[in-house]
Amino acid sequence: MVISMKIGIDLGGTTVSAGLVNDRMEIVEKTEQLSCCEEGAEAVISRIADMIKALIKKAGKSPVSCIGLGCPGIMDRESGTVIYSNNIGWEQVPVGWKLKEKFHVPVYVENDANCAAAGEYLAGAGQGCSHMVMVTLGTGVGGGMLIDGKLYLGKHGNASIFGHILMEKDGRECTCQRKGCWERYASAMALLEMAKKEGVFDGIKEEACGRLFFDKLKKKEDRALQVFDRYADFVAEGITDLINIFDPQCVVIGGGISAQGDILVSSIKSKVMEKIFFREMDTAQILCSLLANDAAIVGAANLLLVRK
Ligand SMILES: [Zn+2]
Repeated sequence: MVISMKIGIDLGGTTVSAGLVNDRMEIVEKTEQLSCCEEGAEAVISRIADMIKALIKKAGKSPVSCIGLGCPGIMDRESGTVIYSNNIGWEQVPVGWKLKEKFHVPVYVENDANCAAAGEYLAGAGQGCSHMVMVTLGTGVGGGMLIDGKLYLGKHGNASIFGHILMEKDGRECTCQRKGCWERYASAMALLEMAKKEGVFDGIKEEACGRLFFDKLKKKEDRALQVFDRYADFVAEGITDLINIFDPQCVVIGGGISAQGDILVSSIKSKVMEKIFFREMDTAQILCSLLANDAAIVGAANLLLVRK
């Protein structure tokens, strides 16, 4: 029997990864390269096209039925155009159309955070949760949301900008020009900043990084424990708001920091349970991402399943 395959691409500011995804939503082949965005959109698209070609070759007799591309920024989904993306430096790039012209299959373009949410819903931690919120704790805080098993995009396609809900009026300065946004308190970056400020890394020659912080946390060093408790509290405040507003079946936590798994999720979970409005009733499960970096590839490949 010939199985049809799909290709999912996750384009970020640093790397681009592409995967061949089978009908059980498993990545059977994966390839990754530096995205080298400074070379311009044409060069990046031609690099992506080469990766696709290689994957189609690997697919052998299995036909590739569609291609999905996830990248940060604002998209016109109808025309497959990236309208604006700060991270990859693109403006009005009709990437979907260009790839379609080359490969003659439908090409879907979507925001990468939405792709990751779709991936976790279809094949990861959120499987079976038709109302799902995903929160990604990375350089910033991103997210995506599924309602009734479909991606919720909002009227203008810009929903789920969770990182910029307000945590503290006139608080820490944010890249969006506002002050006090959640991501300035809940991103992995914010955790490192707080740790540095509290002297967690004092007297250490090695450059401060998340791994080093969690090493200290596992050794139960006082300052690291205190900073982590405060950080988890900030994360929990935002997640509590999201649960109070959307009442999802589950909240999936992704991003580099989710690799810490239990230690992070269990701390957030207990804090959310104290803060949530309907605390005596069944409420959303809080889960750690299962697919990690592969979530966006699986989601991008299967966008058709989660679009209205
Ligand atoms: Zn902001």
